[in-house]
Amino acid sequence: MNTTTATDEGVVPVRQTAAQRRSLPDFRDVAHELAQQEHICARPIPMLAYNSKTLTEEYLGAPCKATIASVCPACADKARFLRITQSREGWHIASEPENEKIPPTEQQTALLAARADLFETFQQAKADGDQDMMSGIREVVADLDAEMKNSGVPGTAARPRS
Ligand SMILES: [Zn+2]
Repeated sequence: MNTTTATDEGVVPVRQTAAQRRSLPDFRDVAHELAQQEHICARPIPMLAYNSKTLTEEYLGAPCKATIASVCPACADKARFLRITQSREGWHIASEPENEKIPPTEQQTALLAARADLFETFQQAKADGDQDMMSGIREVVADLDAEMKNSGVPGTAARPRS
């Protein structure tokens, strides 16, 4: 029994099994192969482009801009050549950009020392069961934290709890 027919394009089977159909290249495989032959992006990203002159919208394929050759050889090559050119032209920075560490001011250290002294007092008040003293210390600590924040220290330390 003959299950294939010869045509101008090639041999097309008349009746195929599911396994044979699965082994045939689909549209994506053909497009991927063509992209590799032409050395263009194999994974274009569809982007909706608006043309203000004709007032129309259309989808365009933007290159994926991958830098890994196994992902997209064309885009990886393009990115590599760009890096080579930028390095040759001296686009790289000569030194690491580091922000200079600003030392704490006297006011900031004094605020933290006062806060630390209050910790001992709070623990004593807690041991004595003096609730008024504890709530007073909490208010003072909240004021000290606000003052610390205003002096330019980001974040807060843990507040005393009952
Ligand atoms: Zn690509």
